[in-house]
Amino acid sequence: MINKIKSNVFQLDFKQFGSTVYLIKIDDKNILIDSSSEENKQELIDDLNELNLKPENIDTLILTHDHWDHIGNNDLFTNAKIITNKNIEDLPKQFKPIQTPGHTQDSFCILYDDILFSGDTIFHEGGRGRTDLPGGNEQQILNSIKNLKEVNYKILCPGHIN
Ligand SMILES: [Zn+2]
Repeated sequence: MINKIKSNVFQLDFKQFGSTVYLIKIDDKNILIDSSSEENKQELIDDLNELNLKPENIDTLILTHDHWDHIGNNDLFTNAKIITNKNIEDLPKQFKPIQTPGHTQDSFCILYDDILFSGDTIFHEGGRGRTDLPGGNEQQILNSIKNLKEVNYKILCPGHIN
């Protein structure tokens, strides 16, 4: 299912378990945030198709962290530069990275305009990511959430919406 967040920002949500995917169109560039789980591969292709895009049209794929349900379809995006916390210096200049360890050590959020893409750090209605998986740390996520309260955004776009 495709939800239009703004004229150039789309939220793709899927039937099977897996992360939400966001498409941001800036200056003829197509940027994705996360690629969901492999179970959602066909639905992701279909949604992109509905937006007149093929996987090879994606220029940049940003991964909020390396959990399987966020990175399952990376192989579709053969022309995309993949950006993780290891090489965030390559983020498009309109995006501001915010380090938010806790759910995993490599978790980060992205501020774009007045939208916060929060991965699995925070969810709607005060929800937050679990810390009982490898690399999770309860005290760190609490600190990260505290830091996010200082960030000026109006729209929250988390990695899971239901
Ligand atoms: Zn996760």
